[in-house]
Formats: sequence, C-alpha cells, structure tokens
Amino acid sequence: MTRADPTREPRPVPRRLESISLRIRTVRAVGRCECLGECGRGTHTGRCPNLNGQPAYGPGSKVVLTVAHLDHTPENSDPANDEYLGVEGFLCSSRA
Ligand SMILES: [Zn+2]
Ligand SMILES: [Zn+2]
Repeated sequence: MTRADPTREPRPVPRRLESISLRIRTVRAVGRCECLGECGRGTHTGRCPNLNGQPAYGPGSKVVLTVAHLDHTPENSDPANDEYLGVEGFLCSSRA
C-alpha cells in the first residue's frame, strides 16, 4: 500500500482516547464510516455506506472502522466535544 501524504492523513488515536474512540464509533457513527466524500475517491456520494465488520462495497474486503484526528492535533482529547475526531473505514482513511 502506498503511504498517503502525511500532512493530509489523519493520525491514529492515542491509547488514552480509546474510550472516546469506542463511543463515537458505536454511538455517534453507529458503526458506519463517516466520510462524506473527503476521501476524494469519488466512489460514494453523500455518506459512505461502509459498515464496520461488513464487506466493503467495491473491493469487498472487511470494513474496520478507525478513529482519527481530523484536525491533525493528537493532543486534543476532550470527551465532551468530539468533533475533532472522525470515524472512517480503511478505504476512506487511506487516501493514497
Ligand atoms: Zn470516503
Ligand atoms: Zn468510507
């Protein structure tokens, strides 16, 4: 896999954010990729249909949702305002 541009690629979430991460993946995103086309792949209009643990549309590989800092600021860890975190499947987060 080609490594995406590090200035654009969301950073992985640190361990201390794991409880927030779990909550927004299951409660806020309801197990669904939150990409609204930011990935630039052009394969979905509106919100991405990929669901965690389900085969991805297109390639059919299993979707694994990850949470990443959209603002590229890993220091952010406010549990009350989680808008700085985004939930995306592998395909949308790897913007090769
Ligand atoms: Zn996408
Ligand atoms: Zn997606």
